[in-house]
Amino acid sequence: MKIRDRYAPSPTGLQHIGGVRTALFNYLFAQSQGGAFILRLEDTDRTRFDDAFVQNLYDTFTWLGFHWDEGPDRGGPVGPYIQSERFGLYQKHAQALVEKGLAYYCFCSPARLDALREEQAKTHAKETGYDRHCRNRSPAEGAARIAAGEAAVIRLKIPLGETTRFTDQLLGDIEWKNDAITPDPVLLKSDRFPTYHLANVVDDHLMGISHVLRAQEWLPSTPLHVIMYQLFGWDHPVFCHLPMVMGQDGKKLSKRHGSTSIDEFRGQGYLPEALINYVALLGASYEEGKDLYTLEELCSRFSLDKLSKAPAVFDYKKLAWYNGQYIRMKTDEALAALALPYGVNAGLFGELGTAPDAGQRAAFTAAMALIKERVSFLHEIPDKISYLFAEPLIPAAAEFIPKKLDLSQTIGLLGIGRDLVEPLAALSDTQAEAFIKERAEKEGVKLGDLMMPLRVALTGARVSPPLFGTIRILGAARSFARIDRALAVLQGYGSVTA
Ligand code: GLU
Ligand code: ZN
Repeated sequence: MKIRDRYAPSPTGLQHIGGVRTALFNYLFAQSQGGAFILRLEDTDRTRFDDAFVQNLYDTFTWLGFHWDEGPDRGGPVGPYIQSERFGLYQKHAQALVEKGLAYYCFCSPARLDALREEQAKTHAKETGYDRHCRNRSPAEGAARIAAGEAAVIRLKIPLGETTRFTDQLLGDIEWKNDAITPDPVLLKSDRFPTYHLANVVDDHLMGISHVLRAQEWLPSTPLHVIMYQLFGWDHPVFCHLPMVMGQDGKKLSKRHGSTSIDEFRGQGYLPEALINYVALLGASYEEGKDLYTLEELCSRFSLDKLSKAPAVFDYKKLAWYNGQYIRMKTDEALAALALPYGVNAGLFGELGTAPDAGQRAAFTAAMALIKERVSFLHEIPDKISYLFAEPLIPAAAEFIPKKLDLSQTIGLLGIGRDLVEPLAALSDTQAEAFIKERAEKEGVKLGDLMMPLRVALTGARVSPPLFGTIRILGAARSFARIDRALAVLQGYGSVTA
């Protein structure tokens, strides 16, 4: 059997973690089986549809970097892949069920259905929903009233007194009493639009879908779908309902927990590799002791028996950790290209929005090596390296003074440091370290004591990205200027101790 699966979003909102998880698992499953992954737009709900959401869907997956084999944008053998372009098919199939007596026209007015609902609520009726009022009308009567132009919906005639069974690939055998299913649900509305159930089942069949991997919240619809397959006389696909994604409080992941739309993650400087890696682990596990997977590795490792039944908990901290890992794996050039917009927006290169000149661009790229290990997000980068671009404020004298030393000793140390800057700017980290150690010994001072005032003068803070890299990027001339500025301020103080 050719494996074919699909992602079937309704474009009524931004792409979010749950949807992307469904899409990713379908993609990985198809890839792992040499099958095809299909995108189908389920845009039958025209009131909530918005073109912007379709655009967001395409943008999201372009950014994430994995794609379907067949879909509205790339065509395929079983298109169109947009449900609103397939309405004729749904009408035909609904009609066919009516002709076989497996579905029927319902002429109940909205007013009648409202009254029914009110009555059921008032009497706390055991049976709620449609009362199957039109179920036993003769097909001839239905046809005549339709021919006379009366409005009607088509409802499925659910076989009563039976039990529907299917096996979920993950959850096992499931059975559902037909009488407990929503009574005779609508397949085709009076405006001839299909409902989700009809369009979904007809399309999965016509598109040759072999596996339906979808969120667990769709599980209650599945018995109805199985009945529809049976009434149509079709085999149903393998169903596999994916574990829920929860927030840490055990409730379904939602905006209350934090960002959920991919746009938000993207804006906050998450890398697509990190999101994919993390989302691939939401409800699946691959190998003991391994956290980091490329998309290719996931494609070859994924299988349905690696899914877990237990709900997945979305841990923002873990995702941040992944992001840091992927930031670390970038080359300086690649990371600089990703982080540059954040630098521009933060005003790193002048006024807000100013692009860097060639020197600033080179410094920005070189600075990536200094902060790669220290950030989890792209947006943290400008702040961490702003001291390389604008002159840092000179802190109070106490900040410069190493423990147990005084102001005049500190001024002396900074003087020694000043002499080291020019050679240091030309040395690699290892060379610089050996060189400064040797000078500290020769001067009879502690290495830390020598470096502290130098660091504060050059970066404006006692804690900063690595000093030698900083000196290389600033160069000797700018370093001298900063040290001299600091010395002038320190010399203006009376006596201060740390
Ligand atoms: N259109 C449905 C959704 O928005 C599809 C559910 C399914 O996969 O059957 O998720
Ligand atoms: Zn009716």
